[in-house]
Amino acid sequence: MAIEQTLILIKPDGLFRRLTGLTIDRLDSTGLEMVGAKMVSVSEDLAREHYKSLSDKPFFPNLIRYIRGEFHGLKDSRILALVYRGEGAIAKVRLIAGATNPEQAAPGTIRGSFGRITTAQQFENVIHASSDPVDAKREVELWFKPQEILA
Ligand code: UDP
Ligand code: MG
Repeated sequence: MAIEQTLILIKPDGLFRRLTGLTIDRLDSTGLEMVGAKMVSVSEDLAREHYKSLSDKPFFPNLIRYIRGEFHGLKDSRILALVYRGEGAIAKVRLIAGATNPEQAAPGTIRGSFGRITTAQQFENVIHASSDPVDAKREVELWFKPQEILA
């Protein structure tokens, strides 16, 4: 298996509901190495760039509001951005994250344990995790400067 880097975002619901430590604990338990971490205030442009492949979806406008913290009353939008590295990192993190839809995510996964679907049909699923090597490279470069990631 290849050594990979993957981007994880602890989304506004994860921060609002104080799931930061628990999420990092689960990530650490994969045996992967944390090589980047920072709080980021998410601009409209950054949110749209991150989710640009979904821009034609009906849920896109609310997804941008969600990732910017607008549903959690955050004065300044914020997420915790992390990079983990190791063998098969992308798939390992997706596995513990669970399925996109929190109702379909397996019990014991982060999304299966703590995600919810709001009455407005927004999937609040606690974390973002890169889905494949192309996305992972693009996303790590979007959120982090090279010098912010440990060698
Ligand atoms: N999402 C949603 N409704 C949907 C599909 C996606 O609210 O029907 C949100 C959800 O927060 C998800 C994000 O959009 O995490 C990005 O969607 P994607 O299909 O890339 O899922 P992911 O890679 O996050 O599992
Ligand atoms: Mg995705």
